[in-house]
Amino acid sequence: MTGPGTNTYLIASGRDCVVLDPGPPEESHRRAIIAAIGNLRLRGVVVTHTHPDHAPLADPLAAEFGVHTYGYAPGPGFSPSRRLRDGDRLRFGEAVLTAVHTPGHTADHLCYRMGGTVFTGDHIIGGSTVLVEDMGEYFRSLDRIRALRPGRLLPGHGSRMDNAAEAIAAYIAHRREREAQILRAVGDGARTVAGVVEAVYEEVDPRLRFAAAGSALAHLRHLADQGKISLEYGEGTGDEPWEIAAVREAAVS
Ligand SMILES: [Zn+2]
Repeated sequence: MTGPGTNTYLIASGRDCVVLDPGPPEESHRRAIIAAIGNLRLRGVVVTHTHPDHAPLADPLAAEFGVHTYGYAPGPGFSPSRRLRDGDRLRFGEAVLTAVHTPGHTADHLCYRMGGTVFTGDHIIGGSTVLVEDMGEYFRSLDRIRALRPGRLLPGHGSRMDNAAEAIAAYIAHRREREAQILRAVGDGARTVAGVVEAVYEEVDPRLRFAAAGSALAHLRHLADQGKISLEYGEGTGDEPWEIAAVREAAVS
């Protein structure tokens, strides 16, 4: 699920630095980060969200250097010693890193802005789309980052994006297109998550079907929130906990 791996950033200003998203607790990776810090003064360990490929090395690394960890909220394998809220600023050297709360991929997701650069974690990644827990929040968070008018994006996976406006516009367009496809699939008679995935995500690797189902469900909930369809939540069996009960609006093309 991590594509080419997780990106860890060492952000330096003068002699001071912070580490952003140190990653999983792998010894070789820990040694590589410490080698990169070298003679710099580590001032803190910053985390975008608590997924296991981003955060678990944060607490042990910070303990080793006697510095704080920063993040939105505790989660599996990570408990920030300083909790950040939207707009909170971290100063080190001449640099200021500003937390931007961007729920959607996860509820606890923070991006970090530094001048014209935004560190986007798993909100926007290079060369792929991301899994989304809450689509309404996710759309709002994309608008939020677009409104900052960043020049470049440095993601948690994949390559840097030097044309941020283009990358954000492509993300928003992709999500709108996906949602229109799903609404059409419901209009055409799909009544379960599996049915929607079948109709819309034809090309998906069978091993990633659970991920497609998660995204489809997030879109369906968003469509229901907008009053375009209604969902019926039953007892269900884990991966199929509900049915689409009714289409309130004819599918539009
Ligand atoms: Zn993630």
